[in-house]
Formats: sequence, C-alpha cells, structure tokens
Amino acid sequence: MARVICTALLASLLVAGAPAWAAAPVEYRLSFPAPEHHWMQVEVRVPEVGAGPVDLRMSRTSPGRYALHEFAKNVYDVRAFDANDREIPVVQPDPFGWRVERHGGVVRVEYKVFGDRVDGTYLAVDPTHAHINMPAALMFARGLDDRGAILTFTPPAGRETWQVATQLLPGRHRLEFTAPNLQYLMDSPVEFGPVALQTFVLDGRTFRFAAHHDGTGAELDSFVRDVREIVAEQRTIFGEYPAYDSGHYTFLADYLPYASGDGMEHRNSTVISAAGSIRQDRGRLLGTVAHEFFHNWNVERIRPRALEPFDFEAPNMSGELWLAEGFTQYYGPLTLSRAGLADLSTTAATLAGLISTVALNPARLVRGADAMSRMAVFTDGGRPIDPTNWSTTYISYYPYGAAIALALDLTLRERFDGRVTLDDFMRAMWRTYGKPGGSRVGYVDRPYTLADAERSLAEVTGSPAFAAEFFARYVTGHEAADYERLLAPAGLLLRRRQPGAAWIGDVRFASGTSGLRVDSATVPGSPLYDAGIDRGDEVVELAGRPVADARALAAVVSAAGPGDRLQATIADRAGTTRRVTLTLAGDPSVELVAVEEAGGRLTEAQRTFRRRWLGSQR
Ligand SMILES: [Zn+2]
Repeated sequence: MARVICTALLASLLVAGAPAWAAAPVEYRLSFPAPEHHWMQVEVRVPEVGAGPVDLRMSRTSPGRYALHEFAKNVYDVRAFDANDREIPVVQPDPFGWRVERHGGVVRVEYKVFGDRVDGTYLAVDPTHAHINMPAALMFARGLDDRGAILTFTPPAGRETWQVATQLLPGRHRLEFTAPNLQYLMDSPVEFGPVALQTFVLDGRTFRFAAHHDGTGAELDSFVRDVREIVAEQRTIFGEYPAYDSGHYTFLADYLPYASGDGMEHRNSTVISAAGSIRQDRGRLLGTVAHEFFHNWNVERIRPRALEPFDFEAPNMSGELWLAEGFTQYYGPLTLSRAGLADLSTTAATLAGLISTVALNPARLVRGADAMSRMAVFTDGGRPIDPTNWSTTYISYYPYGAAIALALDLTLRERFDGRVTLDDFMRAMWRTYGKPGGSRVGYVDRPYTLADAERSLAEVTGSPAFAAEFFARYVTGHEAADYERLLAPAGLLLRRRQPGAAWIGDVRFASGTSGLRVDSATVPGSPLYDAGIDRGDEVVELAGRPVADARALAAVVSAAGPGDRLQATIADRAGTTRRVTLTLAGDPSVELVAVEEAGGRLTEAQRTFRRRWLGSQR
C-alpha cells in the first residue's frame, strides 16, 4: 500500500547534513518575483576562481536528450559583480556564454531566464509552480565540473508553503539543497510548488511519488498503488534495485492541462509530464512510469560509453540508443502486462505497432539500428524548418530498438525453451556495466560499447556465433525478424489487418489549390512513389473522380482492389498537370490477435509460453 506523507513530515524525512566540500561550492539563489511572466531570477556566486577570466556557460544539451537545445536563448539581463560586490563588465564571446575578468577571485552573476514549457527538458515558471530542468536554467562555470553546488529557493510572495521535490541532496533548511558536482547538478530537476508526496518502501529502498496534479487525493493514492506494482515487477528483471545516491528514488509528476507530454530519466528521479489526468489517462501515464523507471537501470547505470560523461557544450552521439531507449520502450508495455495493468489485447496492439513501424518501413534499408541511434542528435528536438525525408529514411530508435528487443526475447525463449530470456541479457548487462557504479556520484565507471553488448549476449547464450549473427542481421544490418513465426509459440497471430483492401501508400494529405496535396515524402515501394508522385504534388482526379479531400480519395481506393490500375491527374507544385497510372497494392498494415480470439485453439504449450513471457515474474 502507498503511504501518504503529509507536508510537515517531508522535512523530517530528509537527512540534513553539510557535505565536506573539496573546494568552495558554487552558490545558486533562485527566486520568482513575477511568476505570471514566466521568468526566474538567478544569482550564481562562484568563489575561489583564481585570477584569470571566468566563463559562465549555458548548457547546449540536457541529460537524456540527444539534440542541441540552446538554452542560452532565454537568458537576459546579465550583470556581473566582483569580490567587492562592485559591478564589472561582462562580455559574450559566443552565443552560449558570458565572460568576466578582473573579478578579484570571486564572481557573482545575476540574470533572468524565461521558461514556459512544462516537460522534461525546459524551464516552466508560472503562478502554480516552478518546474526546473537545470540545464535550461543554470549557468555553470567552465572548468569547475568537480565543484559542489548549493541551491537556495525563494518562493513567490504569498506562496510560502511551496516545497521542493528533487533528487538533489538536502541542505541546512527545507529550501536548501546541494549537489556534489556539475554532472549531478545538471541531472537533478526540481518541482517547486504545491507538491503532493506519497512514499513507499520496497526491498529496503524508498520510492517517492511527488505529484503536481489537479485530481483528488484518492485518485493519486490509487495511481501510486499501480506505480508500486510497476516498481516491484521491474525488480525481478534485474534482481535488485540500484543504490540511490540521494537515499531515495523520486517520481516528479506534473499532470496538468498546461503540461506537455514527456518523460525524462535521471539517476535517482524522473520527470513525467502530461496534459492528461490520472482519472482519464491512467494507462498512458502508467506506461510512461514503466518506461522511465526502467531507465534507472538501463541508461542511468547501464550506460553507453558515448553518453558518459554527459557533455553540456556539444551533443553526445550514441549508436546504442536502440538498446538504451529501444529496449526500455519494449519493457514499458511488457511491465504493464506483467504487473496486471494491461490486458492481452492492449499489449498485443502495442507490439503490433512496433512491428509495423520497423518491419513495414523501407527506411530500415537506409540505416541500421545503430545508425538510426546516431540520428538522435538531429531528431530528438524541435522540428527543423526545412523539409526532411525522414519519413522514408528514418525510423526512431525507440520503436526500432523495441522491435529488436521483442525479436531477441522471443528468439531466446524459443531457442532455449524458456531457460534464457531477454531478462537474463538485461541482468548480465546490469551486473557487468551497471552494478559496479561510479567512483564519483553522478558518473558511471564502466559504460558499455556496442561490442560489449554483443559480448553480454554471447555470455548469456553461451554462443558467440549466435550473438554475432543477431547483431549483424538486426542491429548493424537491415533485416527485420520474422515476427509471425516468432509470435506463434505465444499463441499470437500476426496477420493483415484488412486482407484484400487496396492501398496507395501512407502519406499526410492537406487540401491543395486544385485537389488533395501530398504533404509528406512518399515511401519507396508504395504506389504513389512508384507513380512518381511526391511531396507538393496534388491529386486532382483519380479514376475519373475529382478528389477534393482525403475522404473522397479513400472512397475511390477502397472501391478498387490490389493490382488495379487507376488513372490519375496530378498537378505539380508549379501547377502543371500530368496523367499517371497508379497500380494499387494490398494494404500492408498488420494486427496481432490471440489465436483463441481468431477462432483457433490455444494449446497448453502456448498458454505456458505466454504466461512465462507476459505474466508476473514475482
Ligand atoms: Zn526513454
């Protein structure tokens, strides 16, 4: 059962104590004089800086994000002061930082930073709370990565009851916190507001669920009971919880109408935000909880070498995100099933979605899973304003990696008759790369490479040949597994969703000037692509009928069959029309159904396979 902790008890839970600093810590004071205008006042004091120039930088990245975000863009009103508190000049040598000279050994800088987006990456300040992702908010002194930090929070006027939820370490009073170094500081988001906190203990570890939401206490209570089931179920995969540096693991959940949907993992906490509510979006919200909590092993401690340590001035490019993110994406829905929080048809629909995204998309032939992972530095951020053809050349490493995880799990179960599973692989990765931990808080001493992951697979299967072949075909290669065959032992039938239905290709349409405009790149192998049609072309007429909207087009296509040849009038972006012939294909979309739902009989062996895979491991 989740235990409700009242506000007054929160402070007493924290073990206060001054850390022994190796060098004078950097001090941050965060205040909110006008929260309705969405800016935060920051004061940063850097003592013992010697005589040379001091560079204060805004991060260009954020732990767990793989693209550049340029947080310096929201910083303004920067002022600097010397050791005698006299204002001194500050210059901006490049777009991302500020330089101070002749400071007398101590630098104090004040600035404002704007933020109005509630998610795992940015800063959000408003009268209801301050939701702070540190890289979006704090300047750091270049070269002082090993300095500790002390943070003091001052609430807006009239909001003195606000409290801080964070993985930062407690300081001398309830609004003071510390971080042992820059890596840990940047990895420690804060929710400062009217936080409802619940806590539960499992296997000697304390888990805290800090929610900012507009539901009732009873709703949160029942939600946290399900969170507890997820946390308990995932322990079985690794055999133990990590040792949490802060003494506990904290979920920072913002379920608010003005939040953006996101989940962001950190060492001892996660930020989960959604525009939904516990009442209406429970399944989806629990899915994010399951994904993010799995990260406290996979990525936070079982960490790709390319992500360690995190670089705040340049992107970390990793070819392992198919494993770090994709395998996590697989274990989200698997955990919900095992914890009894998702039924078979829901789980099957999720798996079918992963399979279609990877197996039916020819983008796979352009890049393997490792190369797709390296694309994250471009795709894991805002959309570029110039068009891309990623819809035909890129598959996100999330579903790509999840589909690989599904294929590997099913292959292992079949090949070793259930004695070796993907759980064994994850546990081997944990023991070798995650569990050894870090000699400094916030660091991982034994990050892994692609070759290390292959070696772990060889170890758990006892077959280097199997591991090498699997990686060559499905990770660095371009093959999709035979999911229909792999799912059969679980009594799951992968089949065409609409056998006999005609298809012209999956594209986005928009209304055009003379017909229906193709609004995304067409996919190689689809009838539209093969007829020479691409983004910007307009379908004016199909099979002699005018095509004004997507519904009219769908009606013409559905009246025909695969293999039918339809004449079309196409207007290009310059307005010139041409006649083409579209040869319709069969709708390739698939669904995954239980054999017993499809009129078949579930055998005893299938029932056992399914229970061992999708049932609770406790
Ligand atoms: Zn993730």
